[in-house]
Amino acid sequence: MTVTVRFAPSPTGNIHIGNARTALFNWLYALKNRGRFILRFDDTDVARSRQEYVDQIQKDLHWLGIHADVMVHQSARFDTYAAAVERLKAAGVLYPCYETPEELELKRKILLSRRLPPVYGREALKLNEADRAKLEAEGRKPHWRFLLPNFDGDPFAPRRTDIDWDDLVRGHETVDLASVSDPVLVREDGSYLYTLPSVADDIDLGISHIIRGDDHVTNTGVQIALFRALGSEAPAFGHHNLLTTASGEGLSKRTGALSIASLKESGIEPMAIASLAVLIGTSESVSAMPSMEALAEHFDLSATSKSASKFDPVELTVLNKVLLHQMPFEEARNRLHAIGVSDDKAEAFWLAVRGNLDVLPDAARWWRIVSAGPEALPELSDEDRDFVRSAFDFLPPEPWDRGTWKSWTDTVKQATDRKGRALYHPLRVALTGLSAGPELSDLLPLIGREGVLARRP
Ligand code: GLU
Repeated sequence: MTVTVRFAPSPTGNIHIGNARTALFNWLYALKNRGRFILRFDDTDVARSRQEYVDQIQKDLHWLGIHADVMVHQSARFDTYAAAVERLKAAGVLYPCYETPEELELKRKILLSRRLPPVYGREALKLNEADRAKLEAEGRKPHWRFLLPNFDGDPFAPRRTDIDWDDLVRGHETVDLASVSDPVLVREDGSYLYTLPSVADDIDLGISHIIRGDDHVTNTGVQIALFRALGSEAPAFGHHNLLTTASGEGLSKRTGALSIASLKESGIEPMAIASLAVLIGTSESVSAMPSMEALAEHFDLSATSKSASKFDPVELTVLNKVLLHQMPFEEARNRLHAIGVSDDKAEAFWLAVRGNLDVLPDAARWWRIVSAGPEALPELSDEDRDFVRSAFDFLPPEPWDRGTWKSWTDTVKQATDRKGRALYHPLRVALTGLSAGPELSDLLPLIGREGVLARRP
């Protein structure tokens, strides 16, 4: 069997790190099992779905390193859902109901006041043809419920009916179909709720593994019953835990600051996000993985915690630094070119500065310092200024290399009697305008003799 997974966002907002986590779990599962990854836009809610989110979600996934083999839009697949509806009707397991939301709410309250579970009592099943015609003549339109297979002959006498599955994350799971209401699959206006299109697509697209958040665990019982009613075996399921903010709140698509787009904007590397999203709340320690392949080696659905994991954005910054410190030049090359680093110096420049970066775009600042000089006039005492001036008189002729800094400062040390911080610090300040930064042995050949002399205080 070819492993086929899907990531099924509703395009009603930008995806955040929690959504990306579901996408990554699916992607890595496919990667590890040489499977296929389907991107499915759950856009049957025409009023809330927007093309701009469809576009942004695709961009975000691509940027994260997730590349769908197939992309589908539910809004283009209504024929499939209509066929599924017909099949369920023909099997007698989809029945019309006419209660208004107010009537349903009243039924619920009555059941609760009798300390009974608020499960729909299937009253609409008692309607005969004449009753239905009368209701429709009054202008009522039906919504359609799926008759759950939780009874032996009499639908008004449901009995405990366990639906079991071996969850890839949570182990053995059970949902009692007698504890849930027959789900509404089609609304009065003919629009579909999420359940039917999702299951019909999972069948039609040959999904073998459904990996999604554990907020869907209860749905799974109903969905497995629906798979069977549609003549199909249910796929395997894995429900991962959800992420919360540091204060324990759930992430929402409105949590703009944690959207993938805004993290990208702030310079965070995709693999920092992927590493944290996948390894948080697992038995593996969270560390920076340089590639999806490396991350895949550490990915194990069954090692994911069953309770919610707290997400701390500070951890992203830490992982980001580690990734940059180890990032080979080849990987940074195009981005350095894009921020104006000259190609002939780019590799030496990258190796010099990468250890000092929080985010890659900060390299632009170091490039300005290297190529154009300090951002502000260096602050030096009169004494230090005199020292720097005399030190500049000892600058050796070019060519310069990484040994030049040592040979120059050795000469200056002998000539001036300065050593340690008193020797190095004023030179660093004069050359970069800053008290800390990359190794000067690396920066000096990049600045070059002419560049250094232009910084004479
Ligand atoms: N569109 C659904 C959601 O975002 C998909 C759930 C599923 O994976 O089945 O919750």
